[in-house]
Amino acid sequence: MAQDSPGLPAAPAPAAARAQCPYCGVGCGLELKPPDNLAPVPGEAAPDGQWTARGDRHHPSSLGQVCVKGATVGETLHHNRLTTPLWRACTDQPFTPISWERAFSLLVQRIQATLATRGPQALAIYGSGQMLCEDYYLANKLLKGFLGSNNFDSNSRLCMSSAVAGYQRSLGSDGPPCCYDDLDLADLVLLIGTNTAECHPVLFQRLLKRKRKQPDGLRLVVVDPRATATSDAADLHLAIRPGSDLALLCGLGHLLLERGGVGHAFVAAHTEGFDELETLWRAWDCERAAAVCGIAAADLRQLAEWWLGAAGVLSLWSMGVNQSREGTATVAGICNLHLASGQIGKPGAGPFSLTGQPNAMGGREVGGLAQLLPGYRAVADPEHRAELERQWGLGPGSIAPQPGLAAWQQIEAMECGELDLWWVAATNPLVSLPSLDRVRAAVARCPLVVLSEPYAGTETEAVAHLVLPAAQWSEKDGVMVNSERRVTLCCAFRQPPGEARPDWAIFAELGRRLGFTEQFSYGSAAEVYTEFVALTAGRVCDSSGLSHALLAEHGPQQWPFPAGTAPGGGQARLYGGVESFPGAPPGHRFPSPSGKARLWADPPLGLAEPPDDSYPLVLTVGRVLGHWHTMTRTGHVARVSKAYPEPLLEVHPEDAARAALADGVLARVCSRRGAITAKVQISERIRAGTVFLPMHWGAAQGELACEANKLMHELGCPISRQPELKGAAVTLAPVS
Ligand code: SF4
Repeated sequence: MAQDSPGLPAAPAPAAARAQCPYCGVGCGLELKPPDNLAPVPGEAAPDGQWTARGDRHHPSSLGQVCVKGATVGETLHHNRLTTPLWRACTDQPFTPISWERAFSLLVQRIQATLATRGPQALAIYGSGQMLCEDYYLANKLLKGFLGSNNFDSNSRLCMSSAVAGYQRSLGSDGPPCCYDDLDLADLVLLIGTNTAECHPVLFQRLLKRKRKQPDGLRLVVVDPRATATSDAADLHLAIRPGSDLALLCGLGHLLLERGGVGHAFVAAHTEGFDELETLWRAWDCERAAAVCGIAAADLRQLAEWWLGAAGVLSLWSMGVNQSREGTATVAGICNLHLASGQIGKPGAGPFSLTGQPNAMGGREVGGLAQLLPGYRAVADPEHRAELERQWGLGPGSIAPQPGLAAWQQIEAMECGELDLWWVAATNPLVSLPSLDRVRAAVARCPLVVLSEPYAGTETEAVAHLVLPAAQWSEKDGVMVNSERRVTLCCAFRQPPGEARPDWAIFAELGRRLGFTEQFSYGSAAEVYTEFVALTAGRVCDSSGLSHALLAEHGPQQWPFPAGTAPGGGQARLYGGVESFPGAPPGHRFPSPSGKARLWADPPLGLAEPPDDSYPLVLTVGRVLGHWHTMTRTGHVARVSKAYPEPLLEVHPEDAARAALADGVLARVCSRRGAITAKVQISERIRAGTVFLPMHWGAAQGELACEANKLMHELGCPISRQPELKGAAVTLAPVS
C-alpha cells in the first residue's frame, strides 16, 4: 500500500521495552522502563521524562550485562533533537525551517537535474552503522538499484571494511565464524589491535569473569602500543610499534612452523596457498619479527608456546588491525594462523572481528558498502547484479557494474567538483574522517549537502544545506545485528519528536516521489525487512527464516537462519561442519569456488607515514570507555562527562622531556595536515615514540575541541579502502 504520510510507527505505551543497545557492536540486550509520568498519545510529542535502561537478562548475547553507555542511554534521548527540516542555500546563512513537502521537492529537483545533466555518478550517500537494517536496505535499493549509482558507502568503511575484505579474501565470504560462547571455551585469547575493556566492555567483563574463575585455564595476550585497561588484565602484553602487527603475526607463524604447530592434514584438505605462506613465514624468524615490533623475542616465543599448547585459540580484533594501510593483509595474517593450525570452526577457536557500531554487521548484510549488494553480494559480480535486478523488477544492466565511491573517494570526488549531492545519514564524518581540513574544503565544493540526523548542532550540520530530522533508535521499528551474527528486533517505544521520521520512511517516500511508486510502497518496517531477508536465501548470511513477527515472539536469533529453521536453531559457528552454509554442496567447507580457504603471503609493509626527522613521533587515536564516537549522545550524560571531562594527550616521559613538556601543560601537536592543541598527560603506559589522543572531541565541543583526526592522513588499505587512522607522524612542542 502506498504511504504518503510520514510512515511513523505508532509507538505503544509499554510497561518495559526490549531492544539491542544502540552503541557498540557487542549488541547487548537492554530493558527500558518508561518515566513514571508517561502517557503517550499517538501522533503527539513524547512526554518529557527519562527512560531508564538496564541489562536484559533474556538477551543471549549479554545475559543482563551492560556498560555505562548502555545504562545511561535513556538520558540521551531528548537532548538537542532536530524536529523539523531545515534549509539554507549557502552555508554562511542561518537555517530556515521548511516543510517536508518543500524538502522532498528540493531533493527530487536536484536528483532529477543531476541525472539529466551529469548522470548518477554525481550522487552519493554516506550512511552509518547506526542505521537499522531497514534504513540501510532502502537507501541502497534506491541509490544502487533505481538511480544507477553505487556510491553508497558508510562509516563502516572507517571501522571494519578491512575485516570484511579479509574474511572474503581468506575464507571466501564475509561473516565472523565465531560466537560469544567461544570466550568461555578458548584456552588462549589473543586481543590484537583492540582495547576491548573500553570499546567492547561487556565482552571484556565476560573474559575477566572467566579469568577470575580459572586463572590458569585462560591465557590473555594483548597486542597494543599502549598499556590499557585491557592489557592490565593480560598474562602478556606485547607493546609493539604501531604498524608492526603483520610482522608479529609472521614471526608467530615462523615459530608455529618451527615447532610443529602446523596442521598439515587440515591445511592440505581445506586450504590453498600454503607453499607461498611457508616461504614468507620462514623469512620472519623470531628475532627479526621481535626487532621490527620492538619487543623481546622471548615474549613472542611465550605467545607461540601458549598457542601451541592451547586446545582452542580465539583471536579478537577491532580498529587497531582494521584501520591500517595493510588492514586486509593483517586480517589475512590472523586467518592464516588459525587456518594453518586448525584453530577454526570448533568451539573456543577462530578469527573473530569485533564490530564497532551496533548494526555494522547488518549494514554489511544489506550491501551497505560501495562494493556490496544485499545478501553478501558483490557489485562487480554480473550474476549478483542480475539476481538483484530480477528481484527488484529492474531491467538488465540497471545496476552499474563498477563499485561505487568509498568514503574517502567521495571526499576526493567533491574536491574535484564531481558530486552534485552528498547525503550523510546518521553519522558525523566532520569529526570521524581523517584530514579534516581537507574534508571541509572538499565538502564546501558540493552544491547540495544533505544531512538526515536525529541530533542538532553536529559538526556535519555546519557544512549542510538541507537537514532532515530523523527518528532514532527507540522511535522506529527495525532490526540490528551484532558481532556474533545475532539479530535483534528493536521496536519503537517512544514517539519521534516533532516531525522527525525514520530513515527508511524518508528513502521510501523519496523513491515514490521519484516515480518508483510500486517499488517503494511499504506499510511498515516489517515489510521492508521481509523483502530484504528473502534476498539472503541460499547465501552465507541466509536470514530468510526471520521476520519481525518471529523476532518479536521468540527474541534474538543468530544467522544462518534459513526458511523453516525453528526458533533458536540458528547456527552459532560457521565452517564447523562439512557445509559452509545451508544448501552448500557436501564437503564444501568454505564458501569459495574451490570450497577451500586461501592462505595469503602478504609481506609486512609498516606504516604508510612512518616517523622521520621532521615528524619523529607516531600519533595513534582511540576511544575512552564512557564516550561514543563524536559525543552527539554521550556528551549529554553528566556522569560520563564528569568521568571524562576533557581530551588528554598521552606522552611517554622520554618524549615529554625531549619536547620540554610538563604534565598538564598544553602542547601543540603538528602533522603534515595541520596542528591542534591538547593537554599533556605524561604516562609510562604509552610506548616511547608514540602519543595517543581520543577522537571524540570535535569542533562543536567549543573550548574542549581537540580534533585528533584533523592530523591523520587518508592513505589506506588498497583492498579495503579503510584509512590508516591508527598512525600518523607528528611533532610536539609546548604552546607558547
Ligand atoms: S558493551 Fe556496547 S552494546 Fe553493550 S551496553 Fe556497552 S555500549 Fe552497549
